Amino acid sequence: MDQSSQTTSITQKQIEKQLGSLVMQAPVGFSLVTGVNHVMQLANKEFLRLTGRDISIIGKPIVEIFTEVETQGYLSLLNNVLKTKETIHLNESPAVILINGIRQTLFINTILQPFFEDESAVGVLSILTDVTEQVLARKKIEESEERLRLAVESGRMGTYELDHEHNDIIFSKRLAEIFGLDPDKKGTHQDLKDALHPDDVHIRNEAHTLAEKTGSLFYEARVVWPDKSVRWIRLNGNVLFNDKKNPLRTYGTAVDITEQKETENILKENEQKFRLIADAVPHMVWEIELDGTISFINKQWADYSGLTLEEINKGGWSKVFHPEDAEAVGNGWMEAFQNKKIYVGECRIKNPQGGYSWFTLKTVPVKNDNGEVELWIGTATDINDKKIAEQQKDQFISIASHELKTPVTSIKGFTQILQMRFEKEGNEKAVELLLRMDKQVDKLTQLIVDLLDATKIENGQLKFSKEDFDLNSLVIEIAEEMQRTTEQHKIIIELSESKIINGDRNRIGQVITNLISNAIKYSPVADKIIISTGNEKNKINLCVTDFGIGIPIEKQSRIFDRFFRVVGNNQYTFPGLGLGLFISSEIIKRHKGKITLKSTEGEGSTFCFTLPANTAK
Ligand code: ADP
Repeated sequence: MDQSSQTTSITQKQIEKQLGSLVMQAPVGFSLVTGVNHVMQLANKEFLRLTGRDISIIGKPIVEIFTEVETQGYLSLLNNVLKTKETIHLNESPAVILINGIRQTLFINTILQPFFEDESAVGVLSILTDVTEQVLARKKIEESEERLRLAVESGRMGTYELDHEHNDIIFSKRLAEIFGLDPDKKGTHQDLKDALHPDDVHIRNEAHTLAEKTGSLFYEARVVWPDKSVRWIRLNGNVLFNDKKNPLRTYGTAVDITEQKETENILKENEQKFRLIADAVPHMVWEIELDGTISFINKQWADYSGLTLEEINKGGWSKVFHPEDAEAVGNGWMEAFQNKKIYVGECRIKNPQGGYSWFTLKTVPVKNDNGEVELWIGTATDINDKKIAEQQKDQFISIASHELKTPVTSIKGFTQILQMRFEKEGNEKAVELLLRMDKQVDKLTQLIVDLLDATKIENGQLKFSKEDFDLNSLVIEIAEEMQRTTEQHKIIIELSESKIINGDRNRIGQVITNLISNAIKYSPVADKIIISTGNEKNKINLCVTDFGIGIPIEKQSRIFDRFFRVVGNNQYTFPGLGLGLFISSEIIKRHKGKITLKSTEGEGSTFCFTLPANTAK
C-alpha cells in the first residue's frame, strides 16, 4: 500500500514536470497574468518569440511590458475576461514586432481564457498561435483571383457558362460583344451559334465533339457581326461531367483575335510573295536557319542541283561544290557565320550535265529590330561565261607578253650596239635619239614584265627567293636610281634605325620602285617626294609621300585591284596598265605584310607598307 502510494505520487510529479516542460517548449504561445494589474506570472518561449520580448517580463504588470503599443484595448479585454469569466477568441490579429532588429508583421490567433483558483477567476491565460503563413498564402490566392477578375473585366476576354442539361447559357456582356450580340439583351445559346460564319460551323461542332471526350474545348473560328463584318474569335473551355460521363457544364472564355489573324495573314502573304520572287529571279536562292538547316531552296536551285530540300539537308549540299572549292567555301562561310557578316566567294557548282560551272556565292545575315540574326539568305549567281572570258583573256595576255619579250630584248640589244657605234663615230645626234629610244624600250620592257608578273600571280606561279637584307640600304640604292629619272622632284629620304628583313630583295625593291615611280608620275607639278622608314614592334614600315593629284576616297578601296585605274576628268593623262599596285600588294601580302593608302584628292597620297622584321637577327 505504502509502496504503491509512493509510486503514484512520483508518477504524478513526473507528469506535472513533463506537462510543464511541454507547455514551455510548445509551438503555441502561453502566458498567465494575474491580479488586477495583470502581472505576468508565466510565459513560454513561443510567447516571448511572438511578442518579441524576453524572460525579464516575468513579475511585471502588462502596462510596463507592452510600452510601445496602445495597451488600453488589450487591458479592457483582460478585465472583461476576469469579470465575465468567458473566453475570448481573436483571429488573425496583426502584430508588428522586432525580430533581430527587423520589423515584421505576424498574424496571430489569440485565445484569452480565465484562470481559476478555488472557482474564482484570478488571472487570464493567453494562448497564441502563429498563423502568418496561412494568412499570407491565402492573401496570395486572393490577390491572384483578383488579378484574374480584373483581367476578365478590363481585358478582352468574354466568359460563359453552359448548362448542357437545359441548354441554358449565361454569358458576360463582353462575350456578347465579341459575338456581335447586343450586350444589354439576354442572349441564348442559339444566338451564339447563329453568329458563327456558316463556313466555320463545322469547326465549332468538331471541337465540341472532341471536348465531350477530352473535357477541354478549343477552337478558332469566324463570327459575322450584324454589320456583316467578319471577326476571328478564339474559344477555350472546360467541360464538367456527371457520374455517367455525360457533360454537365462547360465554363468557357472567348477573345477577339481578328488583329492577330490579320498580322498572321500579312506575314503569310509576304512569305508567299518572297517565294514567288525567289522563283522568278535567275539566281539560285536559299534560306538557312540558325542551326544550319536549309529551310527553303528556290525552283532554280532544285532544278539545277536535281536535289530536294530533304536531300540537301541530308548531306547533298556538300556534293554540289567542286571538291577543290568545297573547303574554301565552308571556311569562308563559317567565318562569316561566326562574325555575322556577309560572305562573298566564287566557286564551281555541279551542273545538270555532270560538269561544273562558276558561280558567285553570297550569304547575307537577316537581322531583327534588335540586331540579332534571325536567318541567313544565300544566293548563287552564274558567272561561268564571264569566268571563261576572263580565263581566255588571261591566257591571251600570258601568250602575248611571252611572245613580245624576245623581240623587245633583241631591240634593246641592237639599240645598245648602235649607240656604241655612233658614239665611236662621234654622231651625237644619233646617240641622243638612240638614248631616247632605249628609254622607250625600257618602258616597253617594264610593261611586259608587269603583264607577265600579273599572269604569274593569277596562276599562283609568282616565286620568291628569300634572303636577309637591310631595308634602309635598299631604299638608298633605289632612291638614287630613281632620282636620275627626274629633275623636277627632289627625292627626300628619312630613315629610321636600320633593321633586317627576310624576303626577296628584288621583289621588295620592285614595290619601292613602283611606289616612287607612281609618286613621280602622279605629281606632275610637285617638287618633292618623301620616302621614310620606321620601326614598330617586330615590324618595319616604309612610306612614300607625294604632293600630287591624290585619289578620290570612293576609288581608294579598289586601288590595289588588277587593271584598276582612276579615270578622272583631269587635265593630265597618265600612261599605265593598272598593274603596278596589284603586283606590289601581292608581293607585300606574300611577305606577310600589309600595304595601305592615305590620300586626299588634289593634295597628295601616302602609300605605306609594313613587313615583319627579322627578329632572329
Ligand atoms: P598604273 O600607274 O600603271 O596605272 P598602278 O597599279 O600603279 O597602275 O596604279 C593604279 C592606279 O592608281 C593608277 O592608274 C592611278 O590612277 C592611281 N595611283 C597610283 N599611285 C598614285 C599616286 N601616287 N597618286 C595618285 N594616283 C595614284
